[in-house]
Order: sequence, then C-alpha cells, then structure tokens
Amino acid sequence: MKYAEHISELVGSTPLVRLNAVSMGLSATILAKVEYLNPGGSVKDRIAERIIEAAERSGQLRPGGTIIEPTSGNTGVGLAMVAQRKGYDCIFVCPDKVSQDKQDVLRAYGAEVVVTPTAVAPDDPNSYYSVSDRLVTEIPGAYKPDQYSNPNGPASHFATTGPEIWADTDGRVTHFVAGVGTGGTITGTGRYLREVSRDRDAELGGEVQVVGIDPLGSVYSGGTGRPYLVEGVGEDFWPKAYDPAVPHEIIAVSDSESFDVTRRLAIEEALLVGGSSGMAVAGALKLAERLEDEDPQAAARAVIVVLLPDSGRGYLSKIFNDSWMRSYGFLLAQGESTVGGVLR
Ligand code: PMP
Repeated sequence: MKYAEHISELVGSTPLVRLNAVSMGLSATILAKVEYLNPGGSVKDRIAERIIEAAERSGQLRPGGTIIEPTSGNTGVGLAMVAQRKGYDCIFVCPDKVSQDKQDVLRAYGAEVVVTPTAVAPDDPNSYYSVSDRLVTEIPGAYKPDQYSNPNGPASHFATTGPEIWADTDGRVTHFVAGVGTGGTITGTGRYLREVSRDRDAELGGEVQVVGIDPLGSVYSGGTGRPYLVEGVGEDFWPKAYDPAVPHEIIAVSDSESFDVTRRLAIEEALLVGGSSGMAVAGALKLAERLEDEDPQAAARAVIVVLLPDSGRGYLSKIFNDSWMRSYGFLLAQGESTVGGVLR
C-alpha cells in the first residue's frame, strides 16, 4: 500500500509545466513550478516543518506551546498543518487587505486569526508586526517563527525547491524567476541554483541567472513601500530572510500587469493562480522579451523557470471578480477585459 502517515509529508516535489499561450512569439522555454499543488495550497508549506523542528531543537517551542505569526495566510496554513500534527495552538495576525476567504481558511484549520489595519507603518502599535510581538510577550509558551528573519525559510528552499528545479530540468535551467515577499524563496532557491551551476559551460547557460520580481512601489525595486494590491509579495522594509546578493536583478511589475497576466494564466493555460503568480509570470515575460531583443540565439536556448506561489481560489472575489477589478480601474468597462492582449 502506498500512503503517507500525514498530509504534511506530501509537501514539495511539485511539477514543472510549460507555458505556451501566454508566451506566444517568444522563443525561450518558460516552465512554471506549480506550488499550489502543495497540500496546504502554497509554496509556504515548504518552510513550516523546518522552522518548527528547528524551534523544538533549540527549546524555543515546547509541548503545548502556541505558534504566533504575522502572515498573509499561506505561511499560516503551512504552520497550522504541522502544528496540528504536533499538538501546538496557532494564532495568526493578518493585515486587513488579506481576503476574507484566506482568513477563513486559517480558521478552518483550527487557528485563531487577529486582523490588523494595512495602512499603518510597521512600527505603529496596530501594525501586524507590532500586534504579533505583543501577543508573544502576553501568551505563555508562545513562539514566533518570524518568517521575515528565520534562516530556516531560505534553508528550506535551498534544500528542496532548488534541487527539484535542477533535477527536473536535467541541469538545463538558465534563469530562475520568483516574486519576493520575505525573500525566502528567491534567496534559498537562487542560492542553490547559482552554486550548483557556478562552473557550468557558457554554452550550457553558465551560472543560473536569478531574477526577483517585485510589485511596483515596494522596496526591493527601489520604492518606498507605497501600497499595491498584489498580496504576499513586496515589502516596506528589508527582511533578514532576503539576501540582496542572490538575485542578479529585480524587475518591477505593476498591479495591472500582474492581474492581467493572472487572468490570462487561468483562461489561456488553465492555471488558476494568485496575483503574485501573475506578477512573477509578467516579470518572466519581460525577461524573455528582453533576451529576444538582446540575443535571439541565447533566447532560444534559455530555460526560464518561474515559480507560481499559490492558487487563484483565494482571490475569486478580487482578481477574478469584474466589479472588484473595475473598482480599481483594471477593467475598462462592463464586459471588457484586456485578456490575451485584445479587448473582448
Ligand atoms: N506569493 C504569495 C501568495 C505569498 O504568500 C508569498 C509569501 N509571503 C510569496 C509570494 C513570496 O514568497 P517569499 O516570502 O518566499 O519571498
């Protein structure tokens, strides 16, 4: 009989799928790593177990303890899965821009959810960082994994995401593209792929180029943290989980480009993914276009792997809802959309 002892054992080993329609006319091979196929529905499942087990080893988390984390939802699901198996309670603190659906998912896993305002500075007492810090001091046995500074976040990607991409492309990946939130994904995966390809022949692509994608306005691409609508990526401060020496470059993408590509992925590739996935693919397409302009032969040999962090199910009332999209000016008028680059 083939079965797992617990759902959390099934994290990782996600597949690559080629993008066809959205990359029409570009000669690079663009492969999407589909992280919504993780059992908790996102890339964040990968970091939970390593973070919790490290805290148990160091004594920061003891039997009967409570895990408290500021999270936009996905990290919460990953932590809740492992916490359930190991018998810990969870309290998650979310900014109010996070969709009701995502908050309800956390509650469904048995966690408590505390909602804080989005539009306040990180050091404001009501910010989601400050509220989670206060809860940690108030609740006995509390442990805050702090995905923003925890080295086990990037370490998880170094140990799993990077090796999976290298193995599944037979060592032919030339570019790795991912959105930057805490920076854990790009730092750990990028670091692994750079190290493993460091001595590869130039004809085979040389060292893997690591490209971070950032919402326009966020600090990674030179912004100040101006609010944007895409969830889970971009920051208004520099987290320790992010090593700025890993990416070779950062490409900024607007909300409207991100959401347009998110919708195209569902309609043209049957990939129902979240806004940060659309953002990452929009960035990968910009990269592929630039390679085509600079060196068409190198572009034809390029194998671009782009990571899709989560599913579109958590955004049905936002990105996939025409009135929500129109209320922010992303769709021009009733029934019109720019899907596929043409109005229809
Ligand atoms: N997309 C979504 C939807 C996320 O929840 C996250 C995690 N914050 C990311 C992208 C970015 O991943 P990372 O934190 O590893 O940079």
